[in-house]
Amino acid sequence: MRLIFLGPPGAGKGTQAQRIAERFQIPHISTGEILRQAVADETPLGRQAKAYMDRGDLVPDELILGMVRERLDRADARPGWILDGFPRNLPQAEFLDDLLRDIQQVCDRAVNFEVSDDEIVQRMLGRGRKDDNEDTIRHRLEVYRAATAPVIDFYRQYDRIVSIDGSLSMDDVTQVLVESLPRN
Ligand code: AMP
Repeated sequence: MRLIFLGPPGAGKGTQAQRIAERFQIPHISTGEILRQAVADETPLGRQAKAYMDRGDLVPDELILGMVRERLDRADARPGWILDGFPRNLPQAEFLDDLLRDIQQVCDRAVNFEVSDDEIVQRMLGRGRKDDNEDTIRHRLEVYRAATAPVIDFYRQYDRIVSIDGSLSMDDVTQVLVESLPRN
């Protein structure tokens, strides 16, 4: 199973990705998590990414693309994966497309989690992460609309996109999501 989770920050992608990853025994690959770990470990990547993340801006592609390629190259990602938080813009989507062609893999579904802006702000303020103050959240929503929303149209051309109402309860979202996945 190979899945791409799309949708605004705070839409519940991370929680759902964890659940589906456990169910299918495949890695949950969150670029945000990898970056937060790099910041905590004060690696060169982390040091370069930190200011962008604190502002709620996208970290430049040249820092992200190699990181994703390396992660998908690891043995545990061979049977499948869930990408959460990547791709975040059209160049990243095109990069992933080429990469998957290179490694002869196909994404089964791109899942678009839909949640209104007001609900997102409420949820994220409750989450208490360092980059979750109201100004940064609003900025991340703007970045999402400008850079990431076009990625949804990119995946529409493949007919593999499903949209899910992310405002439902967590358990209902999981159920709808599982039902939308390919069998076997
Ligand atoms: P997330 O946990 O997905 O909300 O990501 C947290 C922050 O990490 C984002 O606000 C960005 O600064 C950065 N980030 C995560 N994924 C990406 C990506 N694919 N491209 C650029 N920046 C990213």
